Amino acid sequence: METAARLALLTDQMGFEPAEDSDLKRPTAPSPAAEARTLNPHAKAPCGNTPFALHQAMDTLTHGGGDPAPALEAKKHSLGVSQAVMPGGRKIALLKTLLTSACERDCFYCPFRARRNFRRATFKPQEMAAVFSQMHRAGVAEGLFLSSGVAGGGVRTQDQLIDTATILRRRHAYRGYLHLKMMPGTERDQVLRSMQLADRLSVNLEAPNTERLRRLAPGKIFLEELLQPLKWAHELRQSLAPERFGLRRWPSLVTQFVVGGAGEDDLEILSTTHALTRQLKLGRVYFSAFSPVPDTPLENHPPEDPWREHRLYQASFLMRDYGFELEDMPFTQSGRLPLDRDPKQAWAEENLIDTRVEIHQAEPAELLRVPGIGPKGAAAIVAARRQARLRDIGDLRRLGVLADRAAPYILIGGRAPAQQIPLFAA
Ligand code: SF4
Repeated sequence: METAARLALLTDQMGFEPAEDSDLKRPTAPSPAAEARTLNPHAKAPCGNTPFALHQAMDTLTHGGGDPAPALEAKKHSLGVSQAVMPGGRKIALLKTLLTSACERDCFYCPFRARRNFRRATFKPQEMAAVFSQMHRAGVAEGLFLSSGVAGGGVRTQDQLIDTATILRRRHAYRGYLHLKMMPGTERDQVLRSMQLADRLSVNLEAPNTERLRRLAPGKIFLEELLQPLKWAHELRQSLAPERFGLRRWPSLVTQFVVGGAGEDDLEILSTTHALTRQLKLGRVYFSAFSPVPDTPLENHPPEDPWREHRLYQASFLMRDYGFELEDMPFTQSGRLPLDRDPKQAWAEENLIDTRVEIHQAEPAELLRVPGIGPKGAAAIVAARRQARLRDIGDLRRLGVLADRAAPYILIGGRAPAQQIPLFAA
């Protein structure tokens, strides 16, 4: 099969993975569970990525030339190169692709599972490196997220990913952003080699523990195959100086959970998230609401409400950036977060209504607990109150605080600020 045809085939088979995607997005509808009960034509694949039309990339690169900027942007879009937010906030055009859509594993939720009948496509490391390098030089893609189905074992597949990255870095002198997926069962020395090549490494844990993973992917071993490579990466970051390998810093680590496919509750997911971010210093945990894929054992399992994914992101950010602990999360009796309110709001309703936070005296950590006040807002309040006395809610608004959200939980100079009464009930 020609290169362009293989790329086109991979294109059609790819699902969506949220790593590096833009920041937290609210679901568009207030209660979308019913709408979500349709099969997603762009099936999500934990080892796969956004659908795109790479054959058009080949056309662009083969027949293009002298593209004016608007045409190039249109082509990027048609290729499925997406704008991705890097750690630190910079946005780049990221190509997310697979080395192969062949997989010998049989995960119950995945469109690439071995027993699913569809045409697969594979690239050799040198081919993938050459195609991406061509796209990079043409200005179509600035960064690469490279994953793969498992073919010939996790160790052999990881070697193929490492070979691709090595060719890119050495032969093509590529210095840009590279996110490498680590395969189930990746060995310790492969972790170290991957760390020397990538800016970000990820292992998709998929489920929060062994028991839940068994329901999603009985062929995967939670501790030995999935968690262990992340632990090795963290240990290596702790024990080895990156300068010894000619690096300025070690890559960040991330993971992803499928939400709602294994009967797990939010307490389980967030317990593991909390441990990963505190103990292994993961940069971020991604959540992906389960969506059934035809011709898989879970094809009749109901899709998960996207609002649950959204609330999990909010809770994980509260624990990572706002000083909240797992015990602070407003879990219901069934171990779920409320879907109708964000977790910070729910916490404040229980804890701050009768003990408001005095804006003039509160520590930054206390300010961060108030709905409507984020890290930037807290820092702005602390800086502003050193200069002058804050008088009213308008002063907070001018500092970038979502003042109406904060108003029920704060005092300004000992007084509760006037609140805007909503004209219509939510
Ligand atoms: S290992 Fe499992 S999740 Fe990954 S591509 Fe293969 S079947 Fe899909």
